[in-house]
Amino acid sequence: MGHNFEDASPDEIKEIVDFFVSHGTIALLPTTVTAPISIIKDAIERVRRVGHPAILGVHIEGPFISPERRGAHNPEYILPPSPERFAELTSGHAGFIKLVTLAPELPGGEELITRILESGAVPALGHSDASYEQALAALERGVKLFTHLFNAMSPFHHRAPGAVGAALDSDAYVELICDGIHIHPAVVRLIAKVKGFDRICLVTDAISAAGLPDGEYSLGDLPVFVREGVARLSDGTLAGSTLTMDRAVRNFMDYTGCSLPEAVRCASLNPARLLGIDDRKGSLEVGKDADLVIFDQDLTVHYTILGGEVVYARR
Ligand code: FE
Repeated sequence: MGHNFEDASPDEIKEIVDFFVSHGTIALLPTTVTAPISIIKDAIERVRRVGHPAILGVHIEGPFISPERRGAHNPEYILPPSPERFAELTSGHAGFIKLVTLAPELPGGEELITRILESGAVPALGHSDASYEQALAALERGVKLFTHLFNAMSPFHHRAPGAVGAALDSDAYVELICDGIHIHPAVVRLIAKVKGFDRICLVTDAISAAGLPDGEYSLGDLPVFVREGVARLSDGTLAGSTLTMDRAVRNFMDYTGCSLPEAVRCASLNPARLLGIDDRKGSLEVGKDADLVIFDQDLTVHYTILGGEVVYARR
């Protein structure tokens, strides 16, 4: 809807979240990109103050990432993994930061994983040049997720399986951006064959252009150009998506041929388990939050219900 969590006002943050709610999202982690620590802290504070029932907490993506795999993150603000800088970032917000993406192969990476776990957040490998061996060591240390698998990480090669090889050869959770651009449908299908339907988490990775037509937008302080719904920096680097969760589920079913319950699990129960909130979220059971999405055959969302209240109704 044209807003970034980095600088959005409370009303604009609400507008972003309501847009995704109207596309079938019942809970989300607003995600910050690499920026100066003070900007990220300010974003966390603003998101927190909005107190929208669909906001679970935040995902900190960067600054502790690899310059080698920075994708659309501004290299100026990338920092080596640092428990001290992490403490600065989280002070006052422990418990609200739910997910942290880092490059664990960098000096300080191992200690940062431990600190992230101690803070109660989930450490994720992403924007990382880790080798297969380094990625496995990070899993041993406590990393539980690969952030947007295949994108911005050491690729799969038959003599150097890379971070992607470690993701496929382990029990870790993997995020997929199922917009048909970030991962070829055939690769989505292969991932589903290898990982099954209990470890895949569908994500949008959406930027400010989601919900709006093609044009010029921004990510952090970098300009982004959107053409036919595909977001890129001026040098052609992919810069997030314009995906919504209803389309992600539909695409995932199209690409893999899986059933609706299997696709829905990848968008609900799996991420809830990853975050350790499956006692409240992720499936329809007595005692859980009454968060429901009602959609038709085409997966067009008709109602979204949060905590038993209808918060979106299609006109
Ligand atoms: Fe990213």
